[in-house]
Amino acid sequence: MTVTVRFAPSPTGNIHIGNARTALFNWLFAARHKGRFIQRFDDTDQARSKQEYANAILYDLHWLGIYPDRTEYQSRRFDRYDAAVERLKAAGLLYPCYETQEELELRRKVRLSRKLPPVYGREALALTSEETAALEAEGRRPHWRFLLPNFPAGEPENPERTEIAWADIVRGDETVDLASVSDPVLVREDGTYLYTLPSVVDDIDMGVTHVIRGDDHVTNTGVQIALFRALGAEPPTFGHHNLLTTATGEGLSKRTGALSVGSLRDQGIEPMAVASLAVLTGTSEAIAAVPTMSELAERFDPAAASKSAAKFDPADLVALNHTLLKDMPFAEARDRLGVLGISGDKAEPFWLAVRGNVDSVQDAATWWCILRDGPAETPEFGDEDRDYVRTAFDLLPEEPWDRSTWKQWTEAVKAETGRKGKPLFLPLRLALTGREAGPELADLLPLLDREGTLARRP
Ligand code: GLU
Repeated sequence: MTVTVRFAPSPTGNIHIGNARTALFNWLFAARHKGRFIQRFDDTDQARSKQEYANAILYDLHWLGIYPDRTEYQSRRFDRYDAAVERLKAAGLLYPCYETQEELELRRKVRLSRKLPPVYGREALALTSEETAALEAEGRRPHWRFLLPNFPAGEPENPERTEIAWADIVRGDETVDLASVSDPVLVREDGTYLYTLPSVVDDIDMGVTHVIRGDDHVTNTGVQIALFRALGAEPPTFGHHNLLTTATGEGLSKRTGALSVGSLRDQGIEPMAVASLAVLTGTSEAIAAVPTMSELAERFDPAAASKSAAKFDPADLVALNHTLLKDMPFAEARDRLGVLGISGDKAEPFWLAVRGNVDSVQDAATWWCILRDGPAETPEFGDEDRDYVRTAFDLLPEEPWDRSTWKQWTEAVKAETGRKGKPLFLPLRLALTGREAGPELADLLPLLDREGTLARRP
């Protein structure tokens, strides 16, 4: 069977690096098994879901290097969920309940005070048809709960320990005791669906073989495995990865926009810096800037993720970004440099000269302007340094210039002036670039050429 995974965010905001972790775990797993990746939008909450968020999520995924084989929207599949509801009702596994939130809360307190597990007590199963009619006459509408298989035959009022076990591809052997959870509400009073049922119906219909998601869903998995079986399907394999938190241990939220994939892109962080950190944080693998998705796929082992939350430090992104940029071939940067106006014969040697000194590809534009137009501010020299720089400029070699010109020039300058080390090169660097640090001058000189260099004579 073809390995089939899905990434299933609700399109209620922009995805952050923690969501990217889930998407990438799925994508890399599929890559390793030559499988398929389904992009599924969990948009049953039609009030909060927006197409513009779905579009933005697809854009972010493409930017990261994830190309779904298929895209699905739950909002277009209600007939399938309705059919599943009918099937469960016919099997006596979905029952109507009329309690309000306040009533449920009161019951929960009573159960706790009696040292009973604070789960739903299935009181609605005991309603007589007269009682139901009376509730309906009051204007109440039912919500529908799935009867969990956690009781001896014919005795739903007597739940007993019932372990649902699975071999989690991230966490190893897992169990959930179905007596410790309430019968889940699958359909609300207003007929809308909660996430639990549509997800299972989709996973069945779409042939999902592996559900890889955050470990906040471990308990859901116990319930959903029961639901797969109630719908006559074999449950898929599950994997629950640890969640990323901020450096101070807070969870990430789609709503706040913190560490959103889009904001990292705007800061000039490379997609593979985001992907490397999103995948390798909180695993036994060392964090490294992995330059391509296929190399990351080779390194990826879902079982390497630890069980505890993984603290994520945005400062690491900057460091990984530098590493990726420093080795980035021109071909990879070319299009983005072109957008910045960096093109022509000099674009490639320019990129190779500056890539080790930029925080982002965009940042290269600063150096392009310095080389084209001169230092942003005219450097100030004391008398002695100005005389020195003028003398040095008089010694500039004739063209053609290449990488060896710098050495040739500075040797002549050294012989003439007796300067060496920093006092020799720093004033020259300042005169040429207006900055005290930057790319190798040996690389910059041929880009400036003789005329451009002479134009910088103080
Ligand atoms: N919409 C759910 C979420 O974002 C999907 C969980 C799942 O992968 O099943 O948490």
